[in-house]
Amino acid sequence: MDGDSQRSMWDKITHLFGKAEDNLEQAIMEARDEGDVEAEESNMLLSILELGEKQVQEIMTPRTDITCLASETTIQEAARCILDNGHSRIPVYKDTKDNIIGIIYAKDLLTYLVGDNHNFDDHVNKIMRQPFFIPETKISAELLQEFRSRKNHIAIVVDEYGGTSGLITIEDLLEVIVGDIEDEFDAPKEEDIQKITDEQYLLHGRAMLDDLNDIDIPVSSDEVDTIGGYLSLQAGHVPLVNEEFTVGEWKFTVIEADTKQIHKISAQKIAEQTLEDE
Ligand code: ADP
Repeated sequence: MDGDSQRSMWDKITHLFGKAEDNLEQAIMEARDEGDVEAEESNMLLSILELGEKQVQEIMTPRTDITCLASETTIQEAARCILDNGHSRIPVYKDTKDNIIGIIYAKDLLTYLVGDNHNFDDHVNKIMRQPFFIPETKISAELLQEFRSRKNHIAIVVDEYGGTSGLITIEDLLEVIVGDIEDEFDAPKEEDIQKITDEQYLLHGRAMLDDLNDIDIPVSSDEVDTIGGYLSLQAGHVPLVNEEFTVGEWKFTVIEADTKQIHKISAQKIAEQTLEDE
């Protein structure tokens, strides 16, 4: 955004605040309907408000997807891990993932390696920094402020028992406002919901039930958020490859899973004739 458009955006925001302090959301939508702000700008403003309601657990990278290293890992192995995974900060744990004791920064690792006394076989705890821990329930807008004031842009999210729940960076917060940001090193992301035809989808186990409802695959639960979680709940165990489930008009078949998690699922709409025959 250049200076002029930043100023005009700011004018619009000030105008909106003046208009209705108590109901900003409505004011933003009215301003959009009246043509005072563009649709894209109004979406961005609404997303900023969303940050004030979203808990960090809704947008963090979950524990199972965190790339981390054991404290006995050597500096050389850590450098390889950074290269292989593309993340520039790697949490370090002692004994289990529930006990994160530090974070390695790619920049610190480089500084260490160009220093005179470096030793590839040193353990990573030689260069790690203190982690910043936050609860799952922290409001995202507050975290954004804290990230800015602490000049630290990564936090480890812990559950109420002190176990590791996930990891969150400033990029996750900004993505809520401006949509998916792909930096130069991000590996291309596989979509959680891939449409094959109107009646067939390939789903990742982490696909959200809310998103499935949006594409008319009606599955709902008070207990779990993802389709993988839902099928495990139905089965009473983590389903095996080829296990099938029928939910309403849809048949779900597990395509890829390990002992702890479903990875891929095929969702196929059942032909009306088949449903009648059943
Ligand atoms: P990076 O560029 O180092 O990956 P970003 O802050 O740009 O860091 O984060 C990009 C995405 O990667 C975010 O969704 C963030 O939660 C996730 N992420 C960052 N570091 C890790 C890590 N060590 N393990 C798993 N996910 C990570």
